Amino acid sequence: MKTITVAGGGLAGLALGIHLQRKGVSVVLNEAGSYPRHRVCGEFICGVKPEELAYLGIADAFRGAVPCQTTSWFYRGRPVYSKKLPRPAIGISRYCLDQRLAKQFRSEGGQLNERTRLTREQLPEEGTVTAVGRKAETTDWLGLKFHASGLELDNDLELHLGNHAYLGISRIEGGAYNLCGLFRKRPGLTAPKTQLPLAYLEASGLNYLVERLKDATIDENSVTGISNLSYQSKPPANDETLPLGDSAGLIAPFTGNGMSIAFESAMIAASPLLAYAEGKSDWNQVLADVALINHKRFRVRKTVARMIHPLIYSPRGQTALSLFAKSRMLPFRPLFSLTH
Ligand SMILES: Cc1cc2nc3c(=O)[nH]c(=O)nc-3n(C[C@H](O)[C@H](O)[C@H](O)COP(=O)(O)OP(=O)(O)OC[C@H]3O[C@@H](n4cnc5c(N)ncnc54)[C@H](O)[C@@H]3O)c2cc1C
Repeated sequence: MKTITVAGGGLAGLALGIHLQRKGVSVVLNEAGSYPRHRVCGEFICGVKPEELAYLGIADAFRGAVPCQTTSWFYRGRPVYSKKLPRPAIGISRYCLDQRLAKQFRSEGGQLNERTRLTREQLPEEGTVTAVGRKAETTDWLGLKFHASGLELDNDLELHLGNHAYLGISRIEGGAYNLCGLFRKRPGLTAPKTQLPLAYLEASGLNYLVERLKDATIDENSVTGISNLSYQSKPPANDETLPLGDSAGLIAPFTGNGMSIAFESAMIAASPLLAYAEGKSDWNQVLADVALINHKRFRVRKTVARMIHPLIYSPRGQTALSLFAKSRMLPFRPLFSLTH
């Protein structure tokens, strides 16, 4: 059996590594960071099916996760829409999920090297999977997230549209909530790290949320941000490694789908990689097979998400969306099925 090398121990890399180890393939996984760690993420997984998680062998990592199905949208503090998702999503923190997957990967016999950032030159090309997430690119956008407990929510997911900003609040394990937002950078705005999300909420016209948070307990260790956020879906670099998850093309987070795509892309790559490790297929065949299936499965989803995403943070787009929502003309179900 040939060994598979994976760069990146996020959801795609770990899920693939676990599956291949269980099939008898040796996997060496190199992760730039360490576990556990908070990640900027809505922590709302929608799309991947329970049987797909079972196929990957990772269903147990979701124990204690919260099923999330009811959603409500707010425009500048006013409720404009409320809808039940066609099927429940999964609410679970990345702090918990990534750590569990890393632990499972090791317990399946995988070699996990933490704090090991692979450079392009270090990657052996054949037999290497790049699952290193999104490409860093300087843009006007800032992602901020934190956990809080003691909040009152009528629905499992709230989406709040603000001035060049939006924020999702969703249930996660242990009765806590994840608050994750995307904000246009405000260069004049400074605050200590733990206060930065509240400062951005205030500045984006979402100050009613700051009021709601006064009686809640914010987990200061969970406050995390990323400033080099681009949602342009870029094709992978034209090299000989196999890209997975965000490395194969980013999807905007509003659709709640990037984590699902990470798992789905691990599932798609699993059989071709197994055939390669067993010597039944060559590397070029693996690259071609996986690229074709990814294209078929994700093309429409990514295109539609890319079209919708600007609508939800531009003032004009938000006004149009909320008018459609209020007049019950928002084609929610068709949009959901096109993006999931
Ligand atoms: C603000 C925001 C909100 C989001 N909300 C949601 C949501 O609610 N639902 C949803 O489904 N998706 C959401 N997403 C998207 C989701 O987080 C990603 O799509 C998902 O994490 C992709 O998984 P991945 O495994 O491809 O990459 P990642 O989870 O990003 O993992 C990549 C890993 O590679 C490591 N790495 C990077 N470079 C190297 C290197 N050179 N060598 C070794 N390791 C390296 C990183 O440390 C990281 O651990 C959101 C994203 C953002 C930014």
